[in-house]
Amino acid sequence: MPDRDELVDSFMSRVSRRNEGESEFLHAVRDVAEDILTIEKNDGDLAAARVLERLTEPDRTITFRVTWMDDSGAVRINRGWRVQMSNAIGPYKGGLRFHSSVTPSILKFLAFEQVFKNALTGLPLGGAKGGSDFDPTGRSDAEIMRFCDAFMAELVRYIGPDVDIPAGDINVGQREIGYLFGAYKKAKGAFEGALTGKGVSFGGSEMRIEATGYGLVYFVSAMLDEIGETLEGKRVLVSGKGNVATHAAEKAVCDGATVLTLSDTSGTLYSRDGFDEDAIDWVRGQKRSGAAISNPPKRFGLEFKPDTPPWGIDADIALPCATQNEIDASNARKIAESPVSLLAEGANMPLTADAADVIGGAGIIYAPGKASNAGGVAISGLEMSQDAHRRFASADEIDGELKKIMQDIHARVAKEGRQGGQIDYRRGANIAGYRKVAAAIAALGMAA
Ligand code: NDP
Repeated sequence: MPDRDELVDSFMSRVSRRNEGESEFLHAVRDVAEDILTIEKNDGDLAAARVLERLTEPDRTITFRVTWMDDSGAVRINRGWRVQMSNAIGPYKGGLRFHSSVTPSILKFLAFEQVFKNALTGLPLGGAKGGSDFDPTGRSDAEIMRFCDAFMAELVRYIGPDVDIPAGDINVGQREIGYLFGAYKKAKGAFEGALTGKGVSFGGSEMRIEATGYGLVYFVSAMLDEIGETLEGKRVLVSGKGNVATHAAEKAVCDGATVLTLSDTSGTLYSRDGFDEDAIDWVRGQKRSGAAISNPPKRFGLEFKPDTPPWGIDADIALPCATQNEIDASNARKIAESPVSLLAEGANMPLTADAADVIGGAGIIYAPGKASNAGGVAISGLEMSQDAHRRFASADEIDGELKKIMQDIHARVAKEGRQGGQIDYRRGANIAGYRKVAAAIAALGMAA
């Protein structure tokens, strides 16, 4: 029997040949393969079913043209995609991203991660991801609406409440989901829950906007509880200024932590005494209106550090909440040399492979996004059942459910990842997610 490294190398060389140059996807697959392949090899049924190899090949990738008109009357052309990775345990589910950096490779890595994340929630949700290379920066409201209409005119053929249920992601928030849902409803002639993240007045769930950031903090609290600590008084670095970052910051402050930073691609806002709720609201408002964060009102006591990420500032906890690969090896070394002892991902794969090695080598307790940022998709899952039953729960009820789901995810991951007196969260998340999907694939035969 070949050893683990031989298994992983031979598996990865096959996957690399079929996905040449797709670095984010290959990184995500290797990360899982290292923990899973020996388990798969030792189980006759799973090995025969070639589960992990199947999961590296999307069920399908749909590509379409999006033709829309800008405010000057000029015709614009973008590309749209939906990567439907696996519906072995439930209908496809995953966000839509509008950003110039979106490519099929990025979406494939995100869809692959989503399969494991969705399985970890304990809900019957398959994995998918989609989006467009459309850059909404500087676009008017009317342009965003026309783009969303044109995007949905194509996507509508491939989604539905029992088929594939997209949600938001980078640059797709409640406004965009509203336009997309309006276009879906009109095309289908039916009011059905084919998208999540909707406004509460038309079938959305309370707390969906807050869910990823709040869920991240619930997960961190469970990690701290494991080592007999709490968030009270902890200094926290948050990167990003979007939906995940601002809600993680808000919840951390609410739970007694001191949030020292928020950031964007232009630099970092630093507060020695910690952000208060008004300062976080101000950042959120700047993001919403597309305005810069470099000139905060004096009353917030914020210092802007241009072209600098938060990493290296003295703190106890790091929460990267901006985007993939935002922390490279040199940033990771700065974190490793600082007092930070816990890092939990709000963004999807914010650490490069080299950065992950540095963080692991430094003994920092590390939670992968597929576990720690699963709160958003979990509440999306609850939005689907609320839509189906036409019964909607209160914000308090949903918040309680969110906390419980994140604690349950922590328990699942801890069970599989416990080694000696410590928990390897990466390994635990990979194994727990895999076991659920693999059991379904083995049971469903060739069709899964
Ligand atoms: P948003 O669009 O709300 O915000 C993203 C923000 O990140 C932007 O303001 C952008 O700043 C900033 N940003 C981008 N790159 C960098 C960088 N290198 N350094 C600092 N800031 C940067 O996105 P979300 O908050 O929704 O998503 C953030 C991450 O969380 C993504 O990885 C996403 O996949 C993940 N995620 C989101 C979920 C959700 O429910 N929304 C669920 C689970 C994961 P600028 O304006 O300068 O471009």
